[in-house]
Amino acid sequence: MQLMLCGGTGCHATGSKPFQEALNAELINRGLADEIKVVETGCNGFCAVGPVMLVQPEGIFYQKLSVDDVPELVEEHFLKGRPVPRLFFKEHMSKEKIPHIDDIPFFSNQVYRAMKNKGAIDPEVIDEYIAREGYFGSAKALNEMKSEEIIEEMLTSGLRGRGGAGFPTGLKWKFAHSSIGDEKYVLCNADEGDPGAFMDRSILESDPHVVLEGMTIAAKAIGATKGYIYCRTEYQLAIHRLEIAIAQAKEYGLLGEDILGSGFNFDIEIYQGAGAFVCGEETALMRSIEGKRGMPRPRPPFPAQKGLWDKPTILNNVETFANVPQIILKGGEWYASVGTEKSKGTKVFALSGDVNNIGLVEVPMGLPIRTLVYDIGGGIPNKRKFKAVQLGGPSGGCVPEQHLDTPIDYEEIAKVGAIMGSGGAIVMDDRTCMVDMARFFMDFIQEESCGKCTPCREGTRRILEILEKICEGKGEESDLKALEELSEVASNSALCGLGQTAANPVLSTMRFFMDEYKAHIFEKR
Ligand code: SF4
Repeated sequence: MQLMLCGGTGCHATGSKPFQEALNAELINRGLADEIKVVETGCNGFCAVGPVMLVQPEGIFYQKLSVDDVPELVEEHFLKGRPVPRLFFKEHMSKEKIPHIDDIPFFSNQVYRAMKNKGAIDPEVIDEYIAREGYFGSAKALNEMKSEEIIEEMLTSGLRGRGGAGFPTGLKWKFAHSSIGDEKYVLCNADEGDPGAFMDRSILESDPHVVLEGMTIAAKAIGATKGYIYCRTEYQLAIHRLEIAIAQAKEYGLLGEDILGSGFNFDIEIYQGAGAFVCGEETALMRSIEGKRGMPRPRPPFPAQKGLWDKPTILNNVETFANVPQIILKGGEWYASVGTEKSKGTKVFALSGDVNNIGLVEVPMGLPIRTLVYDIGGGIPNKRKFKAVQLGGPSGGCVPEQHLDTPIDYEEIAKVGAIMGSGGAIVMDDRTCMVDMARFFMDFIQEESCGKCTPCREGTRRILEILEKICEGKGEESDLKALEELSEVASNSALCGLGQTAANPVLSTMRFFMDEYKAHIFEKR
C-alpha cells in the first residue's frame, strides 16, 4: 500500500509535515512501516481541503488531515481495513459505499496532460518519473528524430503557448530553428506574477523533470545547448525540487554532455527573478538574465532571431514545456484529439476566490466555464450568487453570468472581452464591487509598470486615480468617458503587453457592470 501525501506549498501551509511525521512514527510503532510506504508528492491540486492524502491502490481520498487523526487512521484503516468516513470528502461522508477519488467531481471532470504525474510520484525521485514514461520523449527526440520532425510534430499537436499569448509553439520553434546563430537558448518562464495564479509553481513542485525534458526536446528542435529556467525567488520549494531534478538528470546522463549517447549537449540553469511582474514579458525577462534592469524592448527583432545576448532564443512557460514530452512520445495527433478546432489539448487553471473547491485543475479545451466553476469548483460558498470570474489576471477580463457557457477556447473567451491568460481564474460572488475589483488590478499594474513608456507609466496612474475617485464616491459622469479614452490610448500605444492590456479589467467591467459605475457616481450622496 502507498500513501500519497500531498507535499505542495498549500498542504505544507495547512500542516502536512507534522501529519507526515506523526504518520511515519505510528506506522513504525504498529509494525506497518515495511508494508505501507508514505510518499510525499507535489501538489495534488485540491488545495481547499488540505492536507490531503490518497491511499493507493484503493483510490481512497482523505482530506483535512491532522496529527490527531493519525491513531484512528492507522488502527481502523491500515490495521483493520475499515476506512474512516469522517475524513472522506464532504459529499461522501455519510455514504455506505466507500468512495473512490474518481467519484469526486473535482477530479472526475479533469483531463490530465501537463499534470499527468501530479500527486502520483515523489518529485525528488527521478526513478518514479522514469517509471511513468519519463524521459521517453527526450530519448525518442534525441535518438530517433531530426529537428524538423520534432517541429512538425509540435505543429500537428496545435499546442499554443500557455503563458497567455497563445502563439503556436511549433511555429515559434520553427522560426528559431531557421535563425542563424553560433549559440541558441531555450528559456522557461516560471515568473508567474498574476495575482491568484499558482499553475507554474504547482507543476514545478509536483513534476520538475517534465519541464527539464520538455526543454531538452525544444533544445534539440532549435539547436540550443543552453537553457535557463527563470523562476521567481519566492518559489523556494519549486526551486529546491528543480535543483534536485537537474542534479539527478545529469547523474543519469539525461542532461549535460552527450545526452543518452546521442552526441547532443544541453545544460539548464535556474535563474531566480526578484518578483517584478514585467519580467514575465519575454524581452524584459531576457534583459534580467543578462544582469540588466528588466525592461521590455520593442519588437522586431523577435527573440527567435535576436533574444538572450542577441542570440536566437525561444521562451515558453512551464505548462507549455510540460505538454511537450507526451506530444513527442504519443504524437501530435494524439494531443490534438482533445480540444476545439483552434484550441487543442488541455488548459491548467488556478481556481480561487469565492468558489468552494479552490485548487489547481486541468481541463479539456472546449469545456464550458460553467462546468469549471460549478462542477469542478463546487459552486459558490454559502449558496451565494455567482457574479463573475476574472480570467487572465490583471491583463484579462471578467466573464459574467450570461456568458458562463462560453467554452474554454482562446478565441471564444476573447469574444466576451476576457483572455485565456496563463490560467488564473478568480471567482467572485454577488458581494463583490466590480469597480473596486478593477481598481485593485489597476493598482497592481500601476505598481508594476516599469515606467519606460509614457502611455503606461502615466496612463495607468491616471486611470487608477479616476477609479479611486469613483470608489470614494467622488466620481463625475465625465470620468466614464475619460476612463474609456485613457484605456484606448494605453492599449494602442504602450510598448509592451503589460501596458497594452492594462485597461482590460476596466473595459471589461464597464462593459458588463456599467450599472455599478453609475451607482457609485449618481447614487453617492
Ligand atoms: Fe514598461 Fe508599461 Fe511601457 Fe511595458 S508598457 S515598457 S511595462 S512602461
